[in-house]
Amino acid sequence: MAHAVLALGANMGDPALQIAQAIEAIAGHKQISLLKQSTLIVSEPWGKTDQDRFHNGAVLIETTLAPLELLDFCLATEAAIGRVRIEKWGPRLIDIDIIVYDELVIDSQRLTLPHPHAHERDFVLDPLREIAPDMADWLMIQTDNKSA
Ligand code: ATP
Ligand code: CA
Ligand code: CA
Repeated sequence: MAHAVLALGANMGDPALQIAQAIEAIAGHKQISLLKQSTLIVSEPWGKTDQDRFHNGAVLIETTLAPLELLDFCLATEAAIGRVRIEKWGPRLIDIDIIVYDELVIDSQRLTLPHPHAHERDFVLDPLREIAPDMADWLMIQTDNKSA
């Protein structure tokens, strides 16, 4: 079984509701066990700042899904909740990113692990540190190694 952390974010509709719906879908998947759930935080928009504040959280899961299968499930769950992509880093009903998947390091067209921006986003790091401090430490070491 692999351990992974998924980051959840939303700033349209009812952000806390969509995040709850996403967590329900994650917990309901036969090949996923929900181990921990962070508290929700409110954050200022990142990258594209002229939009509403976000609600953010993260979950620690155990899964038999392979990394790309987990990505497909995240994207399908976003679509099921009604996410439509209009502009990069723009407003969204729900965003589900894979932050870490065990200690895998991947840089492929569809999937980069650990998530390439996680280390520079407090709205990802704070929930991650709350539920998986060891994975947060590992993530920061990976990033230091990259920039060294
Ligand atoms: P960011 O990736 O900077 O947080 P975003 O979440 O708004 O931006 P999306 O439009 O949700 O970006 O996703 C675009 C693509 O990113 C996805 O279709 C997926 O193929 C790719 N991707 C690469 N690595 C990851 C990852 N670790 N988690 C989720 N998606 C990823
Ligand atoms: Ca994202
Ligand atoms: Ca995303």
